[in-house]
Amino acid sequence: MTDFNANYQMTLGGKLVPGDRTFAAYNPATREEIARVPDASRAQLDDAVAAARRAFRSWRDSTQEVRAAALNAIADAIEDHAEAFMTLLTKEQGKPRAGAEWEIMGSVYWLREMSANSLPAEVVLDTPDRRVVTHYTPLGVVGAIVPWNFPILLAVWKIAPALAAGNSIVVKPSPFTPLCTLKLGELCNEVLPAGVFSVVTGGDDLGKWMTAHPGIDKIAFTGHTETGKHVMASAAATLKRITLELGGNDPAIVLPDIDPRKIAPQLFWAAFQNNAQFCNATKRLYVHEDIYDEVLKALVDFTRTQKVGNGADADVALGPIQNAPQYEKVIDYFEDCRRNGYRFAIGGEIDPSAKGWFIPVTLVDNPPDDSRIVAEEPFGPILPVLKWRDEEDVIRRANDTPYGLGASVWGQDLDAVERIGSRLEAGTVWINEIHQYAPDQAFGGHKQSGIGCENSLHGLMEYTNWKTITLNKDVGFGRGRVGKVA
Ligand code: NAD
Repeated sequence: MTDFNANYQMTLGGKLVPGDRTFAAYNPATREEIARVPDASRAQLDDAVAAARRAFRSWRDSTQEVRAAALNAIADAIEDHAEAFMTLLTKEQGKPRAGAEWEIMGSVYWLREMSANSLPAEVVLDTPDRRVVTHYTPLGVVGAIVPWNFPILLAVWKIAPALAAGNSIVVKPSPFTPLCTLKLGELCNEVLPAGVFSVVTGGDDLGKWMTAHPGIDKIAFTGHTETGKHVMASAAATLKRITLELGGNDPAIVLPDIDPRKIAPQLFWAAFQNNAQFCNATKRLYVHEDIYDEVLKALVDFTRTQKVGNGADADVALGPIQNAPQYEKVIDYFEDCRRNGYRFAIGGEIDPSAKGWFIPVTLVDNPPDDSRIVAEEPFGPILPVLKWRDEEDVIRRANDTPYGLGASVWGQDLDAVERIGSRLEAGTVWINEIHQYAPDQAFGGHKQSGIGCENSLHGLMEYTNWKTITLNKDVGFGRGRVGKVA
């Protein structure tokens, strides 16, 4: 019986292993220590990688049916413990119940859907004298490095395709949200062969050891753009495959034909879902000048109806900032706005004596385009609302960023929203909706928001090598094919 409240150990080569040292996990709504977490040593990472390499030898030869069954078994294990996962997720991450449910049940759904995916060999040529077939073969050992905003879902987005493609995997959760992932490892240990799936916990150094480790063949990373650059540089030494899912500064463009009252809740959640600690949160809201004042007022009114607090309380819509460094970082954006005299339409007052790392939802009224709050990714509940007049100009402003993760356009004129949406530089552009993801929908960033993608068959391919096998059936070797193109 898995105890979700105690005994947090790493899953390493089929065994539950404590750390030689430990570090603390905190509840962000109370700032209280809630658990001690194993701090993996370099030797323990070596053990996990060695076990993963051993397990890979047989896992790569397993059938598609066996791998699909494994993914479904993980889904069942999460579903059987869904209540415990949701409670622990709220406790360690801070997100209220609705968000925890979305993440945990979403993980179950993703695993089941992805279990049905496969990459059959492609027959390129099949004639009486020659056959050419391209196979998708697994890479080896995958190192998955995960952030703290969606600890389980973003781990599953890596675990499912890695295992489905025949790789073994070593998962490192964020040091700020390790607990649910440790329990996931414990449960998976009961349904997977030893070493196929390991969980190691530790700080950023553990991530660096993974990206440099010669026994790891691919890094699947989600996190900051700056960290992604370090990952890429470190992985270059052994030419690891990489998938990088990085930061964003997503624009939303609102056309003048929208009803401000109707759109306000949509725009609010576009920006503040998961307490704005969301790669795809709307981080710049461009509203046409004809309805700017009304939309801002509707947003202010809606904000007043949403309670910020401990996610464990039933009436709370937005939880705390997840960790102390992030809290300090978000506060710095408030101070920068104040120093520069930008107006807060609502919010702005932070109570440093609050029990948890709480920050009120804040709207900044039309700050300049070159302000930090517009140009950077605050990753907290402070949103710049900006005026626009000219379509060409707002498209330019929306694209004027090194990021290119997501974007959205809102309006009744479907020709106009599609025209604008098609010109936005982002991996996903939502029109009159937002944050719709699917297991068969490729998700990734343009520009400095990432390399490669997750989900869909394109995402699955990133866990494979292409291996083309050509067969000359003319064993008399009489036709001298060497060097010929066809
Ligand atoms: P982060 O980059 O600080 O940490 C992410 C993970 O990387 C953690 O597990 C951390 O321990 C590890 N790490 C840190 N330094 C490392 C290094 N040098 N080498 C290897 N690993 C290292 O990010 P975070 O604060 O946990 O997450 C927030 C960021 O993640 C935001 O920028 C957000 O936009 C981004 N994000 C992107 C997506 C996406 O799909 N594109 C999804 C969620 C979050």
